[in-house]
Amino acid sequence: MAIVALVGRPNVGKSSLFNRLIGERRSIEAAEAGTTRDRVYGHLTHKSYGLTLIDVAGVSEQAGELANSIKNQIEMAKREADLIILVVNASEGLTDEDKSIARDLRHLSKPIIVVANKADNRALETASLEFSELGFKDQFETSAIHNVGLTDLLDRVVQVLPKTAPINVAKNEIKVALIGRPNVGKSSLLNRYVGKERSTVSAMAGTTRDAIDAVVQYKERQIRFIDTAGIRRAGSVETGVEHFSVLRSLRAVEACDVSVVLIDAVDGPTHGDARIAGMAQDAGKGIIFAVNKWDLKKSGLHQNVQSSSNPKISDDDQLQRQFLANMGRVMAYLPYVPVVFISATAGLNTPKLMEQIRTVQNNRLIMLDQNQLDLIKLSAESSHTHMPMLYAIIQVSVAPPTFELIVNRPETWHFSQVRFIENQIRQVEPYLGTPIVVNLVKKAYSKK
Ligand code: GDP
Repeated sequence: MAIVALVGRPNVGKSSLFNRLIGERRSIEAAEAGTTRDRVYGHLTHKSYGLTLIDVAGVSEQAGELANSIKNQIEMAKREADLIILVVNASEGLTDEDKSIARDLRHLSKPIIVVANKADNRALETASLEFSELGFKDQFETSAIHNVGLTDLLDRVVQVLPKTAPINVAKNEIKVALIGRPNVGKSSLLNRYVGKERSTVSAMAGTTRDAIDAVVQYKERQIRFIDTAGIRRAGSVETGVEHFSVLRSLRAVEACDVSVVLIDAVDGPTHGDARIAGMAQDAGKGIIFAVNKWDLKKSGLHQNVQSSSNPKISDDDQLQRQFLANMGRVMAYLPYVPVVFISATAGLNTPKLMEQIRTVQNNRLIMLDQNQLDLIKLSAESSHTHMPMLYAIIQVSVAPPTFELIVNRPETWHFSQVRFIENQIRQVEPYLGTPIVVNLVKKAYSKK
């Protein structure tokens, strides 16, 4: 999936543009799943081209770096984007700040499209000709508010995107992203699996940046740890601000089949962990939670003096149950994700995690047959009294498993009713570790 970054000075309409581009094209699932208005990246499909759109200003704002916002935006876009959309304000006209951003972007060897937003009427569309002074070939006038010009823009985006070189993927290969907050143990885990075989680490040709993968053999499968550039140096404290690691994770997630989300056993689970896992869920990838540093948790060494007056819980099972309960609270929307308690440095359960990666990838590829789906429909109808008319449930693809609910009036469906069907599907096939997508599709349908 290609990454498209929105860049521009404040108040040019980046977030409205972002919301319009994502919102209009988001499935009901994502729109309602509580993935909130503060989201800063989203997925959309245009002409069967998958895009990840990032509002990079939003990313640095979330990281609490308002002051350096523009500098950070440019830096992030440079590092992470395949294409940059420079947003300017047609109703205000060209400003010095626009020019300075353009100067910074000009020498990049990435496609750049100028979008003169807030071109809410004809006069402004004409006025926006002045932006050609910025020196970029592609320019579009849009009005995010009035939904004008966005389709033309997207047409152009998918035209000029660099076609990513196909990775030479072995059939039996599973692409894995190790993601998580800094210092959760990503490098340590990578080292555990790849160890001395670092010679197998190979630079991936044909990409615009230094994505480096590490490949190991596990049983009959080849496991490719994706984009390990940022996690290579075991034990080194991750430098740079948090949002860089967020975007780097996003890149790895896009490329993977299964994301292993590492959580620190001692100070997790946190909302940061949940946000990172949310990325993998939004992208429809397999997900496994690896609660790392379990050796520390078990030994109780992390407990400070004050808490030692509490009865010490020594039973490993009980500790795990407690941790799972916490996870249930923090990550309530990910009940289908398996949890493995590991220690990257001591090797505890690391083979089990490998096995789980294999299982989850297999699950992502499960296709239900129509008989099963018809039964799910029947049982859903009989156990849910207020469900709108449903003609059929069909599965249209795998990885992630994607279902269509064929209905006559999609607008009468409430999110909770779609979620109910999803749960019914999971009762028949749990799809452990894989998000599933359920879309409402309006069709005139006559059942024979
Ligand atoms: P990263 O930033 O996610 O790549 O984290 P690192 O792999 O660099 O680990 C951060 C620190 O945690 C290092 O000092 C590691 O030695 C330590 N660490 C990682 N995994 C474990 C573990 O399973 N148990 C213990 N006790 N320490 C760990």
